[in-house]
Amino acid sequence: MKIVMLGAPGAGKGTQAKMIAKEYGIPHVSTGDIFRANIKEGTELGKEAKSYMDKGELVPDELTVRILLDRVAQDDCKNGYVLDGFPRTIPQAEVLDAELTKLNDAIDFAIDVDVPDENIIRRMSGRRACLKCGATYHIEHIPPKQEGICDACGSELVLRDDDKEETVKNRLDVYHKQTQPLIDFYTKKGVLKSVDGTVDSAEVFSAIKAILG
Ligand code: ADP
Ligand code: AMP
Repeated sequence: MKIVMLGAPGAGKGTQAKMIAKEYGIPHVSTGDIFRANIKEGTELGKEAKSYMDKGELVPDELTVRILLDRVAQDDCKNGYVLDGFPRTIPQAEVLDAELTKLNDAIDFAIDVDVPDENIIRRMSGRRACLKCGATYHIEHIPPKQEGICDACGSELVLRDDDKEETVKNRLDVYHKQTQPLIDFYTKKGVLKSVDGTVDSAEVFSAIKAILG
């Protein structure tokens, strides 16, 4: 099963993608996580990505597509994957589509997690992330068992640099201009499904399971 998660930054794509990955036994592939891991390791890729991420802008398509195609070519992706944060532009979606077509394959579901802009800023300022294992929490809605510490690996939780309010506003603008058109793209392909992302994360997941079967 090949799934694409769509939705504004902070809509809950990562939260749901991790639950899908666990339930359906497929890898969770997040381009944002790949970039953050590279930033943490101080690689050239990380340095380049950070210059865009800190401003709330998108990393250029050419670089992002290369990273994503390398990742999905790995063995663990053979039986499917859930993409979180990719594609984010029409050219990215077109390259992915063309690569899958070459393999006589296609995306099965594009799930749009729908959350209005008003809710997003609150979500992002409360998000806490583990930069070691990629787990995410929310200080009010999805708190870790011990404040500031990751349940999964015991590392310190941080507010992401790009979750500061000014950057979030820019990320929302970028989302509306460059990413929202993908809703049309996947609607035309007949694979778009929308879920209400404003309800509790367990309820969102139930709605997704009802779609995926
Ligand atoms: P995205 O991957 O779309 O950027 P995340 O999954 O990281 O979004 O979620 C953004 C923030 O909102 C996180 O702090 C997360 O814990 C929290 N969150 C996710 N889903 C819900 C929900 N259904 N209700 C409330 N908060 C949520
Ligand atoms: P995310 O973790 O998905 O919220 O992504 C964090 C940041 O990484 C984004 O704001 C972008 O700067 C960058 N990024 C992640 N995925 C992509 C992508 N598919 N295309 C371009 N930039 C991306």
